[in-house]
Amino acid sequence: MISKRALFYSHLAQTSPSPMALEIESAKGVYLYDSKGKSYLDLIAGISVSNVGHGHPKVVEAVKQQMDLYTHLMVYGEYIQGPQVELAQVITSLLPPHLDNVFFVNSGSEANEGAMKLAKRFTGRGKLVYCKSAYHGSTQGTLSIIGDDRYKQGFGPLLPDTLAIPFNDEEALTVIDSSVAAVIMEPVQAEAGIIVPSRSYLRKVRERCTATGALLVFDEVQTGFGRTGKMWGFENFGVIPDIMTIAKGMGGGMPIGAFVASKSMMQCLTHDPVLGHITTFGGHPVCCAASKACIEVLLKEQLIDEVEAKGTLFLEQLEHPRIVQKRGIGLLIGLDLGSTEINFKVIAKCVEKGVITDWFLFNDQTLRIAPPLTITEKEITSACHLILEALDEI
Ligand code: PMP
Repeated sequence: MISKRALFYSHLAQTSPSPMALEIESAKGVYLYDSKGKSYLDLIAGISVSNVGHGHPKVVEAVKQQMDLYTHLMVYGEYIQGPQVELAQVITSLLPPHLDNVFFVNSGSEANEGAMKLAKRFTGRGKLVYCKSAYHGSTQGTLSIIGDDRYKQGFGPLLPDTLAIPFNDEEALTVIDSSVAAVIMEPVQAEAGIIVPSRSYLRKVRERCTATGALLVFDEVQTGFGRTGKMWGFENFGVIPDIMTIAKGMGGGMPIGAFVASKSMMQCLTHDPVLGHITTFGGHPVCCAASKACIEVLLKEQLIDEVEAKGTLFLEQLEHPRIVQKRGIGLLIGLDLGSTEINFKVIAKCVEKGVITDWFLFNDQTLRIAPPLTITEKEITSACHLILEALDEI
């Protein structure tokens, strides 16, 4: 019989020559279990996805219940589907009053695509401003506004009329003028290796957008759903966007995303011409049911309240001469090891020891720590112990 490993390499499109290639059979809470029965403490949560842990019983139950009722019925926006309207109601109840309208899609990239289209149609302007080192997705549109040109190679021409500015640089904001439809940024840059901006920077961005009529889009795909210690990343800075995009942690492990704006803004996708944005599967009822259960778990188990202290516990325990800099907010942490080679060796060593970490897309010298928010203090201590051992041994 051909092994799954062989089939993986022969029939699955590979995104890199060196995938982690762990053969996982099951996952529960903060642990993954491989085909040989080895367990791994998951410190990356499928890249900021499994905020409530893998296979949370409430999410599983919601999925099963919805499966029994109905799955796909119709393209997004035509039928009144309970899971969609209930989820939209829950999400908007957790947001400032003007963010009262949700367009469901399937992923973070799609959420950003929708936000870009919405901003253009609403403002009647064409230019998009984005930040260097930002990640917003891998589609043609979002690729045009990611801040690392290496990933754009060979895919041009991309969208015209895009302009990159350095992140967290107040002086660079003068380029935002009345030709700009939207300024899109992550409130905390994740794939750059965790860059937390100053409060004053994000406030200045807001002010400049308001003054010029450019819309402020916050990509909360990685920072949303409690990851930073607040439900939304922007709450750490007291700055509110015009459009917010979400995905990843939203679905409790199921694929779903959304862009959120005011009803009056969103209506410009309804008219002139109609059907300004279309998705077949967006807001899939099973994913919406999972998402609602996931948010209820975050709130009922008061998981977000503990995130800051858990993040601090990681930062305090991870003291080692090989660590050049520690950056983080809540449970979105980067340990800068100052060397790609060392970082990759530490990641491999950690996997041997049963701890999964990773590097960042735009910063391969930095070790990623973004576990499920359900991780306990004991698990944090044992994870830190193993990371420190790995740092000693390489
Ligand atoms: N925005 C941010 C900030 C992200 O981190 C990601 C994924 N890493 C995306 C957008 C794209 O999300 P997806 O992979 O679901 O399309």
